[in-house]
Amino acid sequence: MKQLFFSNALLPDGWAQNVALSIDEQGRLEHVETDMPASGRTIDGAIALPGTANLHSHAFQRAMAGLGEWRGTGAGADDSFWTWRDVMYRSLEKLTPEQVHAIAAQLYVEMLEAGFTAVGEFQYVHHQPDGRPYDRLAEMSVQLMQAAEDTGLAQTLLPVFYANGGFAGQSVQGAQLRFYNDPVRFAELVNACRSHSKDHPRTIIGIAPHSLRAVTPESLAEVVGQAGGAPIHMHIAEQVREVEDCVSWSGARPVEWLLDHHEIDPAWCLIHATHMQQSETKALAASGAVAGLCPITEANLGDGIFDGVTYSNAAGRFGVGSDSHVRIDLAEELRSLEYSQRLRDLGRNRLVSAGTANGRALFDNAAAGGAQATGQETGRIAAGSWCDVVALDSSHPVLCGKSRDNWLNGWLFSGDRSCVLDVWVSGKHLVQAGRHMKRDAIARSFAAAMEALFG
Ligand SMILES: [Zn+2]
Repeated sequence: MKQLFFSNALLPDGWAQNVALSIDEQGRLEHVETDMPASGRTIDGAIALPGTANLHSHAFQRAMAGLGEWRGTGAGADDSFWTWRDVMYRSLEKLTPEQVHAIAAQLYVEMLEAGFTAVGEFQYVHHQPDGRPYDRLAEMSVQLMQAAEDTGLAQTLLPVFYANGGFAGQSVQGAQLRFYNDPVRFAELVNACRSHSKDHPRTIIGIAPHSLRAVTPESLAEVVGQAGGAPIHMHIAEQVREVEDCVSWSGARPVEWLLDHHEIDPAWCLIHATHMQQSETKALAASGAVAGLCPITEANLGDGIFDGVTYSNAAGRFGVGSDSHVRIDLAEELRSLEYSQRLRDLGRNRLVSAGTANGRALFDNAAAGGAQATGQETGRIAAGSWCDVVALDSSHPVLCGKSRDNWLNGWLFSGDRSCVLDVWVSGKHLVQAGRHMKRDAIARSFAAAMEALFG
């Protein structure tokens, strides 16, 4: 049996010293023992943390990071989420399955090096540019599963159901043809993903109705019925215009409508949920679902500010995702969430209760919420969980001289991915001294894909 030893580790009941982890053949933790005699095998100076899932990703968007940062002219001078979406749609015009594989592999290397150990991949580009399916219906999803396998990242693949281009059953058009399925073909796609995932022990298949604007009430009900207890993710209330369109269509706001029409439970993850009234925020918290927050992307797109204070006071569960991938950094994601609250409220330490370390609370929430939303048995260094561990470097300038919760305060508020030293997923040592073992080869394939797409 494989073993790892750490001088310090964050366990479910708090910090522990001289921790020995015993890992079984599948990569799960069999025993976690503390106060073990010092051993030559101890990884000195490493602070072991449970792995955190990045709960919301559109992998292909890593290729366009930075390309939306031009102010448009004419009508486009009023840049918004919707003008950014036009740029994103244009980036899809030539995208091939091989390029999706290369982009996702690069992204997943960066996630692992940043301290993420799993991803919720919200996968909506299914078909060829003219809308015809590939010979293998789940071709794009298979490429994403392969990228996760190649890099070692655990993956919850969420095939997206996208049937309409707007509320009230509008038809898809243009780039959206690559996303479109009716419920019958969607069920075939999900089944193809499920059978392919049998070869991938850390891949879970969930489902993702894209948003209320991309479904009808009937098709949403049909697709939700296909989940069978697996994670269900959905974009919701990201944009003011989306809320207004939903009210004109139904008389209700998006989160309000969803809570009224579906049994929202802990299997659900509502992505963004930015624009809610207090009653919706409290009801979402009470449902036990996870709010999938993407603070860097939400800032980049000008989406708005999530009401984290009301939600946290109601014990709402949340996790974070890097969504558009304009930046890949777990520390920065959580810091951005807290800073958005400070800038709105003109106060500090908004998301924690009195006497609590903010970094510790943000990290604990993201690890637990990410695990729940992805359905992965991770986010805890405890017997029975996967051995998904992130080790920070206690000699890093923002961590040295600190201890325990101040390591997390230091990392999240003063540090970045350079604090991450080593990462294990299913007990496999994927990142060593800050570098993924396949970083160089994967970066070369990514550069070739970028040249073909934009060169
Ligand atoms: Zn998204």
